[in-house]
Parts: sequence; C-alpha cells; structure tokens
Amino acid sequence: MKINCLSCGHNVDLDDLYEDYKGQVKCFACSALLEICTEQGHLKSVNFVKIMPRLSVEEAFEHTL
Ligand SMILES: [Zn+2]
Repeated sequence: MKINCLSCGHNVDLDDLYEDYKGQVKCFACSALLEICTEQGHLKSVNFVKIMPRLSVEEAFEHTL
C-alpha cells in the first residue's frame, strides 16, 4: 500500500504490516511524521504530525536576549 506524504508529496511505500494500522509512520524522503489510519488495506485517514522544536517559545526568546 502506498500513501502520499502530506509534507513533500512522496509516495511512501508501506508493507503488509500497515494494512490494519493506526499510528505514526515516517516519510523516507523528508522525515515528516504522518499519522495514518488504515483498515483492511484501505487508507482511512492521513494526518501530518508536526514535529515540535526542542526549545519552547519562551526558551528561544531568552536565548536571543
Ligand atoms: Zn515527505
């Protein structure tokens, strides 16, 4: 089964393990995290999972002062 990466449009190839799956997969092309939900080999939903930066906004602000 193949899914389209929401970040870069790459066709991510998933093996049979993902035919009944709910969770995160990583795009091989751009390393974006996608949360997918599949059922009996059919894709139900794909969501782009935002990767949070290591620094919070407050911490980043402190470092710029
Ligand atoms: Zn991608």
